[in-house]
Amino acid sequence: MNEYDSHKMADVLRACDGMVQTDKPEDADVILFNTCSIREKAEEKVFSDLGRVRTLKLLKPNLLIGVGGCVASQEGSAILKRAPYVDVVFGPQTLHRLPKLLQARRTSGLSQVDISFPEIEKFDQLTASVPHYAENSASISGAAYVSIMEGCSKYCTFCVVPYTRGEEVSRPFADVMREVGALMSQGVKEVTLLGQNVNAYRGMGDDGDTVDFAYLLKSIAALDGIERLRYTTSHPRDMSQRLIDLYATQPKLVSHLHLPVQSGSDRILAAMKRGHTVLEYKSIIRRIRTARPDICITSDFIVGFPGETEQDFEATMKLIDEVGFDNSFSYLYSPRPGTPAAELHDDTPQEIKVARLNRLQGCIEQLEARIAHSMLGTVQRALVEGVSKKNSNELAARTDNNRIVNFSGRPEMIGDFVAVKITEVVRHTLRGKLE
Ligand code: SAM
Repeated sequence: MNEYDSHKMADVLRACDGMVQTDKPEDADVILFNTCSIREKAEEKVFSDLGRVRTLKLLKPNLLIGVGGCVASQEGSAILKRAPYVDVVFGPQTLHRLPKLLQARRTSGLSQVDISFPEIEKFDQLTASVPHYAENSASISGAAYVSIMEGCSKYCTFCVVPYTRGEEVSRPFADVMREVGALMSQGVKEVTLLGQNVNAYRGMGDDGDTVDFAYLLKSIAALDGIERLRYTTSHPRDMSQRLIDLYATQPKLVSHLHLPVQSGSDRILAAMKRGHTVLEYKSIIRRIRTARPDICITSDFIVGFPGETEQDFEATMKLIDEVGFDNSFSYLYSPRPGTPAAELHDDTPQEIKVARLNRLQGCIEQLEARIAHSMLGTVQRALVEGVSKKNSNELAARTDNNRIVNFSGRPEMIGDFVAVKITEVVRHTLRGKLE
């Protein structure tokens, strides 16, 4: 989502102010930080990065520095107290106002702060930026992101998202379809639908009625030029049977689902206010696997939530074993200011939490390796995304189940689907040969 927002910032500045992107901070007239506040470390990093660009401002007084994203949303004008040389503070919902904010800063000489939630206004403004997708590497690779909803109304006790991005707001169905259509005409073959709880999508349909996520997926899948569909990140409470059934009927929907569970203990899930039990989560997985037997499931885990006992953690390990997760985003619990869990008593020593996290990650890595080895010798349909990061003589493609496979191929293949035979497992990636 942040990557998508960063592209959008570049788009609005290009469209309104004719700015061009540069990779060299010393060449820039404007430097923007797109921040994340999901965990404390990400937040601290912003202030240390800001300290580094401050020296550039001493050399180039007209340089403008902006802070956007969720840290900006959470801290607002407090950022100016800690870093008074910052010129503009804007939230995830006001990034489309960037040209105006920069202009106001230039004319008034005063730092500008706008972290309001004008809801759908952002989407309305951003739809206009579609033609500039062609300049994004995202579309050249044949794959693009489309944001379809923002925010979260679940209020899990550990999470800042409802406070920093606001409650769930969905884009109207016609707007999403228009954006996908524009991408398709630029050669995009795979779209990833984005949202904090993407499957909570409830957009206004063409006749004024509300349409759900399954309806949207089905409608996009009906477009001839779109060959593959992904979405991230979903919430177990919004995995409707209509959505699960699509895995049986809609081959364009990939065989990979990222479904955050956080913990395998009912006691912890209740304390997190997740709104489902372990059994309910397993029931979703069972129904999805009935519809799509080869699907790879990945998840998010929080280790060391306040009050997590050894027994709770063992329950998480048991769930991991039962589901056979393919990968995870797993982190230690990080208390976030203003969230209910930050007030909870937490007496688990840090070293125990770290040991638990290492054990969990080690276990998931083993499962990941097992799945990778089971792919050896198979022929995968993969979308070529670009040149391999490891070896510039090779190409990198993404398989249906979200694995990167590196192989020898011609640069003209970038943006196309190819058939690759998997020949080798290399840690987190695969190697293959064109079929
Ligand atoms: N749809 C997702 C869900 O089901 O919760 C929301 C994804 S959330 C924006 C991203 C992930 O960040 C969460 O799944 C969680 O694992 C992690 N996260 C959020 N708050 C956290 C915290 N306070 N400490 C550690 N991890 C956190």
